Amino acid sequence: MKLFLNFDPCIECKEMMTELSSEEMLFADDEIRADVSAKFLRHLTYNHNEVVKAVMSEVKSQQRSPEFDLYK
Ligand SMILES: [Zn+2]
Repeated sequence: MKLFLNFDPCIECKEMMTELSSEEMLFADDEIRADVSAKFLRHLTYNHNEVVKAVMSEVKSQQRSPEFDLYK
């Protein structure tokens, strides 16, 4: 997953980013990975409004990736 944003991640962010890049997540199936990614994006949406716009532009450039599907 590629999501480099210029913001200060809180503890929850760091936990989720660690989870997303963990070895067990690398071997998890797509559905689980998408779930965790969606959880992270929800967290950003509700807690880090300043990065939502950056996420949205990232989504536009990565629309083929289900991890970035905000339109379900
Ligand atoms: Zn956070």
